[in-house]
Amino acid sequence: MEHDTLTYDELLSLNRELKQQLEEATDAIEAIRTGQVDALVVNNGSGHELYTLKTADQTYRVFIEKMNEGAVTINREGLVLYSNTKFAAMVKMPLEKVIGLTFRTFVHPSAFEKFERLVNKAWEEDCKEEIELITANGEAIYCLLSCNTLELDEGPALSLILTDLTLLKETENQLRIKNLELAAAHADTEKLNNELEDAVKERTKELYLSREHFKYLANNIPQMSWTNLPDGKVDYYSPQWGDYTGLSFDETTGLDWPDTLHPDDVATTSAKFINSLKTGEIFEVENRYKRADGVYRWHLNRAVPLHNENDEIVFWVGTATDIEEQRQQLEKKDEFIGIASHELKTPLTSLKGYLQLISSYKNKDIGPSVKPYIDKANMALNKLQRLINDLLDVSKIQAGKLEYAFSEVDVSELIKTCVENAGHVNPSYNFIVQDGHHLFINGNAERLEQVMMNFINNSVKYSPESKKIIIKSSVHDEKVRISVTDFGIGLSEDQKERIFERFYRVEDKKYMTSGLGMGLYISAEIIRNHNGLIGVESDLGKGATFYFELPLMPVSE
Ligand code: ADP
Repeated sequence: MEHDTLTYDELLSLNRELKQQLEEATDAIEAIRTGQVDALVVNNGSGHELYTLKTADQTYRVFIEKMNEGAVTINREGLVLYSNTKFAAMVKMPLEKVIGLTFRTFVHPSAFEKFERLVNKAWEEDCKEEIELITANGEAIYCLLSCNTLELDEGPALSLILTDLTLLKETENQLRIKNLELAAAHADTEKLNNELEDAVKERTKELYLSREHFKYLANNIPQMSWTNLPDGKVDYYSPQWGDYTGLSFDETTGLDWPDTLHPDDVATTSAKFINSLKTGEIFEVENRYKRADGVYRWHLNRAVPLHNENDEIVFWVGTATDIEEQRQQLEKKDEFIGIASHELKTPLTSLKGYLQLISSYKNKDIGPSVKPYIDKANMALNKLQRLINDLLDVSKIQAGKLEYAFSEVDVSELIKTCVENAGHVNPSYNFIVQDGHHLFINGNAERLEQVMMNFINNSVKYSPESKKIIIKSSVHDEKVRISVTDFGIGLSEDQKERIFERFYRVEDKKYMTSGLGMGLYISAEIIRNHNGLIGVESDLGKGATFYFELPLMPVSE
């Protein structure tokens, strides 16, 4: 029919006919797809051909339509006779367009050859293979293509079932990546594990070594050593302890102090130890331990607490160092000091006598130029006498023989005498007395004057820049407190604790002064003999207040 020569009416009816044909075709496709009919008319160029599906019952169609795979039927020429909605969706083309096209349209060009081979084979036997398809907008899709031959009325056809592998491939890929990540994580964990294991091994080794170190050390030092649990119970003694006491571990742990300690040392030792257990302070005491042969030897005992990370005491490490020889040498030294100072005292006394004799001569008998020398000799002699007296006192204290008589002492009188003496010798210093009381104590005036003069002389000695010194008396709780305050170099906390020890002096090169560190030791002993209290308050660099307190004498009616 020549279309360009048709009239408008003819064209209108042709259009109507074509439209009807199209509607019929669409209906037919829809009908087949939904299982209402089971035949299809295809125009294959040489006229219309009718295809009927032999097995076409409705259940089967619905099933095919609903399944998740693409389902297509092609004829010998490869034309698509049937497609389910899923396949159309897979290749992103409207369903009506898919039917009637050759299936090759949807095969990726790179897979043409494979597809031909597969289809050829499929006519002989059922087969399946992975193949790459292409969508209408050119995207590749991986599919598994299963081919089965079908017997239709008009001849054989091929049923193609297409399973989209894209998701599978993607999942596989993801799985591969996850597997790699897992392997890497596994390797990391393994490495960490190995490191951890190494660290544990190292720590175990360190622990072993440190225990061995401790044992080696404990077994080879000359001291006896032990460890105590926080409650004080001994849980280890070094072999030296057994060697010294002649007791086994079991024999010794159940013992009380008196079994191994000198009876005179039990009270101080146990008091100090109990105090350390309570406060966590380092335990230190000198005492005598009984040797296996019954001989007591002096030891320096120390126990130091070991804390854990929570600052709790885990155990105590104790040592006892034999100081018997040092003690004996110290005693010999004290003996020597005693004898020497005694021996020195005799010629000193005669010297003093002769000097007094010379001083009593009239001025005309000795020339005026000689007089200052006599004064200087007198001063030097006084200093020497004080030193020798101090030495004698120290050896007397050591021997427990510092004895003196007690009587009523007027405190104000005592202060007055001392301040007068000090002012006479140190005219450049300003001594301020704060004493508003008239009090009496029971004591030895000479010895108490010695203490006060030691305080005052130290104040002068250790305050080279500030010249003010305050001497004060105060009363509280039936006690009098006499203090000497200076504004000199002062003392640190550590120094304060030690200054009352025998021969202790602060090692400060800046303020080197002469002295032997005996004055405060003797003072402390004198005050102790008076049942009093001695002490110091001081801030380094700001000065110091030395004081003593003594019980007041009851006022007689
Ligand atoms: P000495 O004065 O002979 O050294 P002491 O026993 O009197 O001995 O004093 C012991 C130590 O105490 C002194 O060496 C000194 O370091 C310190 N000291 C004593 N008095 C004072 C003070 N007023 N200010 C600062 N330090 C002092």
